[in-house]
Amino acid sequence: MDDHVRPSRVVILGGGFAGLFAARALRNTPVAVTVVDRCAHHLFQPLLYQCATGILSEGQIARPLRTVLRRHKNVQCLLAEVTDVDVEGRVVHAERPDGGTSELPYDHLVVAAGVRQSYFGHDEFARYAPGMKTLDDALDIRRRLYRAFEAADAATDPDERRRLLTFALVGAGPTGVELAGQIREIATRTIEREFALIDTDQARVLLFEGGESVLAAFGPKLSRRAARTLERIGVEVHLGTLVEHVDEHGLSVRDKDGGPRRFDAGTVLWTAGVQAPPLATRLAKATGAAQDRAGRIIVEPDLTIAGHPEIRVAGDMMSLGGLPGLAEVAMQSGIYAALRIRHEVEGRTRPPRPFRYRDLGSAAYISRGRAVVRRGPLHMSGPAAWLVWLFIHIAFLNGFRNRLGAVLSWLVVFASGARRERAFTSRRAGPA
Ligand SMILES: Cc1cc2nc3c(=O)[nH]c(=O)nc-3n(C[C@H](O)[C@H](O)[C@H](O)COP(=O)(O)OP(=O)(O)OC[C@H]3O[C@@H](n4cnc5c(N)ncnc54)[C@H](O)[C@@H]3O)c2cc1C
Repeated sequence: MDDHVRPSRVVILGGGFAGLFAARALRNTPVAVTVVDRCAHHLFQPLLYQCATGILSEGQIARPLRTVLRRHKNVQCLLAEVTDVDVEGRVVHAERPDGGTSELPYDHLVVAAGVRQSYFGHDEFARYAPGMKTLDDALDIRRRLYRAFEAADAATDPDERRRLLTFALVGAGPTGVELAGQIREIATRTIEREFALIDTDQARVLLFEGGESVLAAFGPKLSRRAARTLERIGVEVHLGTLVEHVDEHGLSVRDKDGGPRRFDAGTVLWTAGVQAPPLATRLAKATGAAQDRAGRIIVEPDLTIAGHPEIRVAGDMMSLGGLPGLAEVAMQSGIYAALRIRHEVEGRTRPPRPFRYRDLGSAAYISRGRAVVRRGPLHMSGPAAWLVWLFIHIAFLNGFRNRLGAVLSWLVVFASGARRERAFTSRRAGPA
């Protein structure tokens, strides 16, 4: 029952798409909202690959949460790592960056902590094949990519030079496809005249996929077109191929004929599979909630956890009727969770309508002027799809300056191949 003396306390765990849209939707509701996130920024994950490949800057895809929510007077932001939820006591436990801990009591909890990379039981691969989920990951990948060309130019052994100029991507979903296209573009259009000793055009980009198609979620027609476009720009696509081992020199696979094959590669990037973080398992144990195979929490149709109407799970961390892990699902579920809280606080008694996801379609960028777009029965590819991709991303990027800056960067890279954001730090984080 809500307390009428003080406003209800809403804690939102995570300031990604689900958490941010939940906080925004509570703007005119008499509740005190705390958004707690281990990062101080809201990250636009769909454009991480553009930051990693030097088109966009960190600031263009990540905005301070405090700035984004500055006009929301009932919202506080807290930079802290949530370590546990005391479900009985209704308290969130978090570790602050000053080393102290915070206890955040709540009347309503929205859990929107997203997912992380899955290595399908081989976490040891992470050291050699980083995934791309955070801003740190994108900057680490940028360092690995551009450093690989530098190292190849400095190498004297031709075999080592070839290895350094080989880039392997595991997983042909949108992120793998986008990164593969971008690496070929860097090699052929951005840095192709900058090195004296290497021909960057010779850089090999290998894309491994365990399934039978690239961009499987876009359907067979677009998938075939995407594969053709990738091959045209020089990406070697290996379908039906399972990666069995990754080490500092490359990777070993089992190809579709069952044969083992070894590929030496200087850079291996992992874009296959997701799993819920350990926090999801702790919460599931504490509430008795079931989890799906990826560890996501199985929620009721109104996004609550069964037996816990005060806890809602939104975004990538929720499992509901096979909904995909997409930004649009996260935004809509965050808004839905907030509206349910508002209705409860306002004392509305009608049983809530279940969460219904409105599929607005999806888009993936392949290479310069080439994308694929799927919306219901509409399937587009090529330059028209690229224009649609452009407008979708302009619409969803956060902040006017970011939109303007991004459009400028896209026009420059489209026209000349030049990328402004190629700087990387010398931080050592594993093999080049
Ligand atoms: C590389 C990449 C490309 C993508 N491309 C697309 C695309 O083209 N189209 C599309 O629709 N979707 C895309 N997605 C998926 C989309 O970004 C996600 O579906 C969406 O971000 C999910 O939102 P979320 O709020 O559930 O989780 P997230 O956006 O992951 O946010 C979770 C937040 O919780 C915080 N957090 C997690 N654990 C803790 C903790 N213990 N304590 C404190 N804070 C914590 C994190 O810091 C993060 O800010 C892509 C994702 C990635 C990684």
